[in-house]
Amino acid sequence: MASIATKKNILISGGSIAGPSVAFWLNRYGFKTTLVERWDGVRPGGQNVDVENAGREALKRMGLEADVLALHTKETGTNWITTDGRSRLDMPMTGAVSATNESEIQRGDFAQLLYDKTKSETEWIFRDQIVAINERDDGVQVEFQSGKKGDYHAVVLADGVGSRTRKLILGPDDYSFKPLGLYIAYWAIPREPSDPFYDKWQITPLPGRRLLSSRPERTATYTNVFLMFLSPKSQGFEKLPKSEQVEALKPYLRGSGKYEARYIAGLEKDKDLYLDYTGQIHAKRWYSAGGRVALVGDAAYCATPVSGMGTPLSLVGAYILAGELAKHANDPKKGVQEYQRLMTPYVKETQTLAPGIPSIAMPNSKWGIEVMYWILRTIVAVARFWSWSGLGRLVQRFSGPPKPEIDLPDYTALEVGRSSEAKKF
Ligand SMILES: Cc1cc2nc3c(=O)[nH]c(=O)nc-3n(C[C@H](O)[C@H](O)[C@H](O)COP(=O)(O)OP(=O)(O)OC[C@H]3O[C@@H](n4cnc5c(N)ncnc54)[C@H](O)[C@@H]3O)c2cc1C
Repeated sequence: MASIATKKNILISGGSIAGPSVAFWLNRYGFKTTLVERWDGVRPGGQNVDVENAGREALKRMGLEADVLALHTKETGTNWITTDGRSRLDMPMTGAVSATNESEIQRGDFAQLLYDKTKSETEWIFRDQIVAINERDDGVQVEFQSGKKGDYHAVVLADGVGSRTRKLILGPDDYSFKPLGLYIAYWAIPREPSDPFYDKWQITPLPGRRLLSSRPERTATYTNVFLMFLSPKSQGFEKLPKSEQVEALKPYLRGSGKYEARYIAGLEKDKDLYLDYTGQIHAKRWYSAGGRVALVGDAAYCATPVSGMGTPLSLVGAYILAGELAKHANDPKKGVQEYQRLMTPYVKETQTLAPGIPSIAMPNSKWGIEVMYWILRTIVAVARFWSWSGLGRLVQRFSGPPKPEIDLPDYTALEVGRSSEAKKF
């Protein structure tokens, strides 16, 4: 039996995680989907994102859990090290306190996977973007930078924290960008034949409120590096052309140890260098006045990479938005209102960062770094005792397995032509 959504076409802007995930679900519900991505292909770049808690549940429902686990970065734990390579604190992945897990996947790998899983049903358009949105009672007319125009039942904006399309549907008082006072730069260094393969996430706090990190990736051809540094105000680095960003970043790498020259050489060569002045998006509503245009993922409620929850939020948001649009296929406004109602507590919880984050993890002096290590070691020791003594397991036995922070609604009845992958769930 055809679903009520059949032949309703939905345009999605942004082809990273949230956008293709919405397309994936809308295809399942019988919508016709088109996705426009401004990059000239599936956008590469980005380092680890992980898919835990409710995000993992959403992934299972997509039937993609095994695909994501197969693309694991091969990271087995976290090692805090000094600039001369001495280990200060080792946190194995299976330990009582772990900063990494089995679902760590590179953002670019995940985006490519989602492209592969949607391309047979979704029309992907690269090198174009929406420049105008005209919402009517019976649909949405969209104008693209290329000059093309299109009419759609609804439009989903999934084009990231810096979304340019958001302002086409929300006024300046409808949302705000709340900076964390933190820059993050991501780039990669090619591995040389003589380099040993480090399967640990290596973190080095540097005086001057800086933190340097290097992580393995699954093909072992390069090492992913990121540098974070506090900056109470934006210095405009994020808006500079790449060559000027490289020059702006160099002073922040001073004193980073024996690999300093290679960090800089990698920075100069990597065309996918990604520099962001990190902040959260807080919006009063995640949809247009008429309700036919909705925001999802970082464009709607970015929690920042520091939260570690950007990707789970996107997967859950995509699942609920698509489900509600299908449930209310003849009343998209009702669908997007329900989406916001269901998601709001989860988004609020996720955007609430622990007090002092991120500055507490980035001391200014060498002495401050020693204090931070002392606190970290104490936390790890207490957690190990808790786990070793069985107290943790005892509490878990009576409280049941860890639950996702949001109970995902069940939209199975809305699916048409379910694939064998979905039947496994
Ligand atoms: C290049 C890149 C690297 C990242 N690296 C990391 C990382 O290492 N760690 C981490 O935790 N998070 C990273 N993120 C953020 C992470 O992907 C998100 O927090 C999370 O997965 C939610 O994703 P999203 O799909 O909502 O937004 P994003 O992942 O930001 O994707 C937005 C997409 O929209 C596209 N786009 C932007 N503007 C337009 C437009 N006007 N029209 C059409 N398309 C547009 C972008 O090219 C991109 O593909 C990265 C994002 C990007 C884009």
